[in-house]
Amino acid sequence: MKKTLLLLLITFASTSAFAKLNVVVSIQPQLEFVNKIGGDKINTSLMVLPGNSPHTYEPKPSQMKAISKADLYLSIGVEFENVWLEKFTNQNRNLIVHNISKDIKRTAMQGHNHKGHHHQTKKMILDPHIWVNPIKVQQIAHNIAESLISLDANNSHYYQANLNNYLKELKQLDLEIRNILKDTPKKTTFMVFHPAWGYFAQQYGLHQLAIEVEGKTPKPKQLIGIIKEAKEKQVKAIFTQPEFSDQVAQTISKELSIQVIKTSPLSKNWSENLKKLAKSIALGSK
Ligand SMILES: [Zn+2]
Repeated sequence: MKKTLLLLLITFASTSAFAKLNVVVSIQPQLEFVNKIGGDKINTSLMVLPGNSPHTYEPKPSQMKAISKADLYLSIGVEFENVWLEKFTNQNRNLIVHNISKDIKRTAMQGHNHKGHHHQTKKMILDPHIWVNPIKVQQIAHNIAESLISLDANNSHYYQANLNNYLKELKQLDLEIRNILKDTPKKTTFMVFHPAWGYFAQQYGLHQLAIEVEGKTPKPKQLIGIIKEAKEKQVKAIFTQPEFSDQVAQTISKELSIQVIKTSPLSKNWSENLKKLAKSIALGSK
């Protein structure tokens, strides 16, 4: 009897030691960050499916099922989480939620500041797109490692070693981007529809000019102002992302005779995508 119990305990202990953590993330770039650190100790699944906006996403029923089996949800502070994280924890009482945007400084989102005519009131929205900046992703990587270690301390050396390797890769990526942009004048302006590249612009001394106003397509009068500013700042390219309509961008591109380049901050190949953006800006500034 005692022997059976012991055997049972051993079997249980060994399966749990080898069971992979089921981790759910909000957006595609997080898959790269989390897999770099979790390696073969975790299974990952994605919530905001490609082509959808993390500002407004609504999970599918099959994804709610996946939530029931998940151990860990790594949130990153995107808008749909405000509505859905609570529903996820209601669905799965054992689900642990860690926010990997912890300790990351945010600044106001461009195109979201306006002064009232009379009250000088400022409606400020903090920019959630922290993952477009490799330096901020270093902190994200630290937060992911801390989270995985807190759930799976047996593999802490593994996660720590992966973190150290990934931090080296991120430093290398930062150097590569600086190198791509080395001949690009400071404050070079690039235009975007949705202002998701603010922290990239900040990091590399560039300027992002958004078409979207307060999260909406600009009114004709606002559009005239935006085109005027784009001319003054000698914008050389407009970047749009497939998650949003590029109709207005096309109109502006014709007006200014410049190119529209589709590139998404939610793209799967995160590091390649940042380099691609840097290259397009560097080419445009020549
Ligand atoms: Zn966004």
